[in-house]
Amino acid sequence: MTIEDKKEKLRAIKNEILIFKKSPLFAFRQANRFFPVIGEGNHEAKIMFIGEAPGRNEAKTGHPFCGSAGKILDELLAENSISRTEVYVTNIIKDRPPQNRDPLPEEIACYGPFLDRQIEIIKPQVIATLGRFSMRYILEKFTIPEALKSISELHGKVLSAQASYGPIIIIPFYHPAAAIYNRALIEDLKKDFAILKNYH
Ligand code: URA
Repeated sequence: MTIEDKKEKLRAIKNEILIFKKSPLFAFRQANRFFPVIGEGNHEAKIMFIGEAPGRNEAKTGHPFCGSAGKILDELLAENSISRTEVYVTNIIKDRPPQNRDPLPEEIACYGPFLDRQIEIIKPQVIATLGRFSMRYILEKFTIPEALKSISELHGKVLSAQASYGPIIIIPFYHPAAAIYNRALIEDLKKDFAILKNYH
């Protein structure tokens, strides 16, 4: 797939989500004049980060991880000399849930197929999940035997999987926002992110 093909296919996803009235979050987006947050970064990225759902700053701008969680993500990347422009950053849920509540199973089911398509287009070699919702979705999607284990058991573990386009690895991380409220987690995040140095 050429870079132009990728761009076009990703644009098609964006256009579908813009008019995705079937989503339980569509009315909330419209009422608040929010933007959907599709994802951004390098379309040839080796590493794809998958977060949970846009927060307020993200929904106001349309950019993933541009608020306080994004600041932590940027610091973790910078510590490992990884630039945002070389990776792709997206979420499992493309619209902001009210009060930043946890995504509901029906919302994950609704938006999951868009994420599946993004993976097929970008073809990352490494999928880095941020938080338990994207971890669970990705581990189940790739039928990883550890799928039922908790994030406290799986964070920082390098898991092998087979994508349609070849072998990949999946690394679950704690969500950077969790480190805002629990500073102890930042040490785990720092240690775990160092693994990415080997893959970029
Ligand atoms: N938290 C997420 O999971 N994703 C974002 O884009 C921002 C905050």
